[in-house]
Amino acid sequence: MKSKNHMKKLVTTLLICGQFMITTQMFGQTTPIEERHAVCGTVSPGVKWEEQFQKQIESFKEERAAHGASSAVITIPVIVHILYKTGQAVGNTPNISAAQVKSQIDFLNEMMAGTDPNKSSLPSAFKSLDGGNTNIQFCLALRDAKGNTLTEPGIERIDLTKKGWSDPSTFTTFDQITGLFDDKVKPATIWDPEKYLNFWTGDFTTKSYYLGYAAFPMGTDLIGLDPADVGTTTAQTDGVVMGSNVFGCKALYANGYYYTEPYIYGVTSAHEVGHWLGLRHISGDEVCGDDYCGDTPVQSGGNKNCANGLNWGCPSYPFQANKCGSGKSPNGEMFQNYMDYSDDKCRSLFTKDQVTRIQTTMAKGERRKTLGTHGLCDNNIAPTATFSADKTSGCGSLTVQFKDESQGTPTSWSWDFGDGSAASTQQNPSHTYAAAGNYDVKLTATNQYGSTPVTKSKFITVGAGSIYTPVKGGPATNTEVGAGAAGTVVRGLLFDVVNPCILQSVKVYATGAGDRTIEVLTGVGGTSVAKKTVTLPDGESRAALGFDLPKGSYFITVSTGTINLYRNTAGAKFPYAIADLINITQTDYKDTDPNYYYYFYDWEVRKSGCDVSNGIDNEKYEDAAVQVYPNPSKGDLTITLPSVASSTDVCIYTIIGENIYKMDAVNNNNKTLTVDLSAQPNGIYFVSVKSGNVITTRKFAIAK
Ligand SMILES: [Zn+2]
Repeated sequence: MKSKNHMKKLVTTLLICGQFMITTQMFGQTTPIEERHAVCGTVSPGVKWEEQFQKQIESFKEERAAHGASSAVITIPVIVHILYKTGQAVGNTPNISAAQVKSQIDFLNEMMAGTDPNKSSLPSAFKSLDGGNTNIQFCLALRDAKGNTLTEPGIERIDLTKKGWSDPSTFTTFDQITGLFDDKVKPATIWDPEKYLNFWTGDFTTKSYYLGYAAFPMGTDLIGLDPADVGTTTAQTDGVVMGSNVFGCKALYANGYYYTEPYIYGVTSAHEVGHWLGLRHISGDEVCGDDYCGDTPVQSGGNKNCANGLNWGCPSYPFQANKCGSGKSPNGEMFQNYMDYSDDKCRSLFTKDQVTRIQTTMAKGERRKTLGTHGLCDNNIAPTATFSADKTSGCGSLTVQFKDESQGTPTSWSWDFGDGSAASTQQNPSHTYAAAGNYDVKLTATNQYGSTPVTKSKFITVGAGSIYTPVKGGPATNTEVGAGAAGTVVRGLLFDVVNPCILQSVKVYATGAGDRTIEVLTGVGGTSVAKKTVTLPDGESRAALGFDLPKGSYFITVSTGTINLYRNTAGAKFPYAIADLINITQTDYKDTDPNYYYYFYDWEVRKSGCDVSNGIDNEKYEDAAVQVYPNPSKGDLTITLPSVASSTDVCIYTIIGENIYKMDAVNNNNKTLTVDLSAQPNGIYFVSVKSGNVITTRKFAIAK
């Protein structure tokens, strides 16, 4: 029933139905199963939302009149986030089976296609109003948004116990349900709502009597309106929440986890998806209210004491004809509509006007108009290649462990390491870069449907020289500093990095084995620069850190967990200098007692970058006959080679490892190379001659 002149604010809660039942319970009456009536918790948006939506409907109708009704079916990928508790096995528990999920989507698709078998009992007066096929279908997603194949199509199982979330099976109120789902579960687990319909199932129906609730669509024009008028659906809360035991169709899959009659045939899903696509309850949430559909009869409701103009049970047709006024509903109330509360088997249609609202939402609604399969329900997709490495920079000869992270189930791989070496077909190869330089790395991942390569430009940087020899400093042992015992408070040491360096490790003394998180901050209470959780044995051990630290002032501490590390309460003699790299200046307890020392002993530190003073490698890899002159050069450089082996590369690098010259000496058949470097700025450079396994490096300067 439609009455534009009587648009009212329709923010309505449906607690009346629910409270009726809970009150019955509270008075201790034994409520027969068949008298337990459950409700939907969806809160409809207000009148401003409806005003905008009506404009969109008019616009949609104009487009439909101009271009003809589209018969294209939009298929929307579904992800069902199944909440369960630790110990609940897949199957006959809230951890519902894939077969139960499939039964729900299959029957939802029947209802959306207008082929619900229960239509056979529709009276002819309502058959003529049947909207038939909505042209909306749902498919269980085969892939996540990154293209990874799902173990179970359309299903993500979430152990709520491990997440520390409340147990919904204890819930008795709607606030508890939304408190769990809208505040915690949805923001933590939602998949891109522009690509998926997110369902969440939780075991809350049995005590709360709530079947589910849905997020209404936002319209593009609605953003910026008062949330009280338009609802509060966001990209973090979009989707449909349903009781675990009403998500499924017992007629299609009998052995699942089901609530009691009459809610076990999967019709709740059509009702909630109806809301998600812009439909209100058929009553407009009040007695003789307005759902803004001209072909749904106005209804007074109240069957089996249901409030808000809705009906429970399954009345006899015609039901309450003209109860809202003479001539207003000559065929009675349409309790057969999915947007009423009547029994699952009693409902079987959306009307034509309801289907128009649904299609308007799909054409214009925010986070609805983008929906389509995006290939997420298709099997025949080429993989998307991507990868990572255990390190991307180093000195001299650098061995890198690569890791394939391609999405979309590749079956073969081809790696181009960028240094001219043969391609690898391993999934996770290890490769050694023998010479300094910046290297592009390309991975091609392939399956039967094709391949998509990815190239990471200058992904690996190898500097000439070798890593600097680590040095140690600070108090070598806990006894060097003086008296002390295990400390249990978050305290630490202030220090300066004088030259960029890597804090490789520190010695600690633990009282009790376990994890400690060691963190470097920009100061006490500052921002985190580096952080690592280490598992320590009881007693003395060395914690490997690998913190790469630029010049600056820092604070190192144990930031989380049990501390129980030895510290000194006397005898500290700051500062402690570690070569020309680090200066440990004080503790954060200095104002109370400057003689304390906290937690970290015998620091192992090495300078950042590569040490070129001794050449790239040790002497056995040096060919003394390689000569480079003049040095310093004014721009012209001559390189003489003792021999030209079958594979001899000559490269010139800047001091930061940038390759500015490369030649294959064999192909140039030349034992003496003359190189013009006049365009290069003054500075220190390196010539690297790689002949077979022998690498020779010569340092020279350009001084013009
Ligand atoms: Zn509802």
